Amino acid sequence: MSRVRRFGFLAFGFLPWAMGLGPWALTPGPRQSPAQYDVHAVRFATLPAFRVSSLVADADPARRLDIAMMVWVLRSPERVVLVDAGFYRDKFMPQWKPVDYVRPSDALKAGLGIEADQVTDIIVTHVHWDHLDGADLFPRAKVWLQREEYDYYVGPGGEVRNRAIDPEDAAMVARIAADGRLMLADGDDREILPGIRVYTGGRHTFASQHVGARTRSGTVILASDNAYLFENLERGVAIAATIDRAANVAAQARMLKLAANPKLVVPGHDPAVFDRFPLVKPGVVRID
Ligand SMILES: [Zn+2]
Repeated sequence: MSRVRRFGFLAFGFLPWAMGLGPWALTPGPRQSPAQYDVHAVRFATLPAFRVSSLVADADPARRLDIAMMVWVLRSPERVVLVDAGFYRDKFMPQWKPVDYVRPSDALKAGLGIEADQVTDIIVTHVHWDHLDGADLFPRAKVWLQREEYDYYVGPGGEVRNRAIDPEDAAMVARIAADGRLMLADGDDREILPGIRVYTGGRHTFASQHVGARTRSGTVILASDNAYLFENLERGVAIAATIDRAANVAAQARMLKLAANPKLVVPGHDPAVFDRFPLVKPGVVRID
């Protein structure tokens, strides 16, 4: 709603004239379009020769794939929203041996010119290290988790309730909560920001969520690890790591319907994301 239009309505035509604005203030302005985002995937590392059978439930154990580590960026004139935050703590490097690693905040700066303190919100799809760990690289961002995910994995003092979350990450989320920046979403199909909805049911973790964003092309769905690869979505096969296979398959089928086009469902670790969508820069593709 434009200021002029609201003003004209409230003042019922008197004040605009009094202020010399003239009759144009009474004519309805152009309808303000609802919030809409441009969407990019930004790659910050590769995990080489990852076992595909750890990603796709029925895959041949011999298959290997260099998987992409990425974050997704939703931008509107009002907001810069990350979906997931990657990882940066040193401890993960020898353990997982990422190659072509760039700190996620540096990848955002290099790829899209976004400074860390410009990020307004981070929607964390689930508490695993490779999606949550980077959340404290962005000092001003509100951090969104599902309430059930937070309560299941993080105790009131920031302690680990289930070892799927790294202890340092649990403590970090508790610090963000103490700082007043933790936002908890209550369940499925919630519009948490204008034009952005979160959905549960993927059951990668206890209450993992995926994200739908309104774009110029209609709804884009960021599946994160609720669908690791395009192969999960295209063959209707559960992810290998789920606490409920049937729920995961149903959630993937739903994602394909929620998206404006089945091609606009983006899986969590598929390197083909960077082939299927137009390249903006090395390691950056535009999704919408
Ligand atoms: Zn992951």
